[in-house]
Amino acid sequence: MGRADYSYLLRQKGSALAGYQRRMVSELQRRGATLADVQGVQLDVMGKVVEATFDAVLTIKPDGRIETANAAAARTFKYSIDQLTGLPVAKILPHFNELVAAENVHYAVGLGHRETVGNVYDGKQFPVDIVIDVARIGANSLLVLVARDITELREQQKQLEHQALHDALTGLPNRVLLANRIEHALALAHRNENSVALMLLDLDRFKEVNDTLGHHVGDLLLQDLSLRLKDAIRASDTVARLGGDEFAILLPMVEDENQAHEMASRVMDVFGAPFQLSEELQLEVGCSIGIAMFPTHGDDAAKLMQCADVAMYAAKSGSVKIMHYDSSKDTNSLRQLTISGELRQSIQDKLLTMEFQPQLDLSQQVICSVEGLARWRHPRLGYVSPDEFIKNAEQAGIIRELTQWTFVRALEQLTEWQNQNLNLSLAINLSAKLLQDNQVADQLKEMLSGYSIRPQLLTLEITESALMADPEAAREALKKLANLGIKLSIDDFGTGYSSLSYLQKLPLDELKIDKSFVFGLLDSHNDGVIVRSTIDLAHNLGLTVVAEGVESPEHIETLAHLECDIAQGFCISPALTPDLLNQWIVSSNRTVARIAA
Ligand code: C2E
Ligand code: CA
Ligand code: CA
Repeated sequence: MGRADYSYLLRQKGSALAGYQRRMVSELQRRGATLADVQGVQLDVMGKVVEATFDAVLTIKPDGRIETANAAAARTFKYSIDQLTGLPVAKILPHFNELVAAENVHYAVGLGHRETVGNVYDGKQFPVDIVIDVARIGANSLLVLVARDITELREQQKQLEHQALHDALTGLPNRVLLANRIEHALALAHRNENSVALMLLDLDRFKEVNDTLGHHVGDLLLQDLSLRLKDAIRASDTVARLGGDEFAILLPMVEDENQAHEMASRVMDVFGAPFQLSEELQLEVGCSIGIAMFPTHGDDAAKLMQCADVAMYAAKSGSVKIMHYDSSKDTNSLRQLTISGELRQSIQDKLLTMEFQPQLDLSQQVICSVEGLARWRHPRLGYVSPDEFIKNAEQAGIIRELTQWTFVRALEQLTEWQNQNLNLSLAINLSAKLLQDNQVADQLKEMLSGYSIRPQLLTLEITESALMADPEAAREALKKLANLGIKLSIDDFGTGYSSLSYLQKLPLDELKIDKSFVFGLLDSHNDGVIVRSTIDLAHNLGLTVVAEGVESPEHIETLAHLECDIAQGFCISPALTPDLLNQWIVSSNRTVARIAA
């Protein structure tokens, strides 16, 4: 109950008494009682009220000593009434004198409700609510003090506060308290110029645990996990439960992203051992973690939460369980919204272009083919890499239009080369997202029929990881594409863990060794072995082998020695506009395949 209610009660009590007194006085007067009789009865009633009330009631003389005390005062302050009588009031209310002085209480005016500290007989302190008023007796005045022990009230308030800021199931700080701590940490970090990391954690398949084993088991798991998480962090860090199976960890002081990553790995280790939820029930549980950093990703709690959330979803949907926020992968960041908002228009306005990177046939030493790579120079953002806008187009649902554009550009260019008598084939990239799209093969078929281009001049590159996402479906999709007479190439090979037996079943023509292995070809024994064995493997399967990322003449030499078929890389040429390619064909000392007369 708040102070206002308390005073309201007091006033109620007073007015009830006044009504009672009025009735009593008129009754006594009707019976012919004297004034003294009436006063006597009044005093008697007052005395009984004071004795019966649960509040301590004291009168205090101008010298600060207690003159009278009621039974409740004795109970509240743990003195006997005799001990209280004559005791300086400061003994039981240590701040009484300051309070009276500060509030300018004279023996003429009183003091409203104030909270102060009460002192009991054995020295223990507790919170009290007091009211001081003035009573006049002839020329003298006394202070009348009413005091109430509010220990319980404060306890209840504290409990309510705790409930409002903590999660009931695990006792961990909740979202509100976390936000509070983040703001606090950010304020300090601003001043001390340190970094802050926020991690969001989400359990894998928690819904299944709940659905199949029951909420009770789910609850036990969350409680057990909370204890483990608390053990894994430093005392200055905060672990909070945001609801469901979502937790957050705030590291108010980290050096950099690497240190945050280390902490995340430590948190990940918490899931290393199974959770023992009953004598018979052991559960293996995993989790995904997203990390956002101050100041790199945001400078307020809301922004950091949002970034960590985006990173966490990236972790959940990929194979890497700890992800750092990456604005280029965040479809909600301003840049990404700009990209998805303007890409479609850019396609229509022909701001999207295709550039062509020559490929060298190593045995013939002839430029035999080209890879078409999309380029986007945005008026404000500048050069946006295809890695970025293609991922964006996939997420924003524009990838079909982009692919349609790619097909048109490829067929136009092949026609152009044909007209120039150049015998170049062209490889273009097909987004992993579209491999399973039934319309792609149909569209391409229709388009091919509109150009007099032999289909085998066109190669579709499909990344190994796209093929591995759903091998059976990928096989069906590739069959449809192969039926068009075009060639199929497996791109970024070596990064997707495909098996030989699986590759054998696919209608492939070509394999491109991922550039990361080619980079290491000369220096890393491991990469050398991978490149060598990939070439042998591909040849055994009847595939042409392309090495991309060829950056030096030594690479070319080594690859030729390993009997790699085709090389592509900056050492030969970067991707060029059609005009620049034409110039290059004339000016470089490379031979370009021509259509035999
Ligand atoms: P990718 O298919 O693996 O393309 C090869 C990438 O390696 C290109 O980057 C190319 O510029 C780069 N590269 C070529 N030679 C070298 C070299 O010697 N050293 C180094 N360091 N890099 C080299 P780019 O153009 O930024 O393309 C990145 C990725 O974007 C491509 O990887 C491809 O997956 C995707 N992409 C590009 N254009 C298209 C497109 O039209 N459609 C689709 N779906 N994806 C595209
Ligand atoms: Ca490619
Ligand atoms: Ca590649």
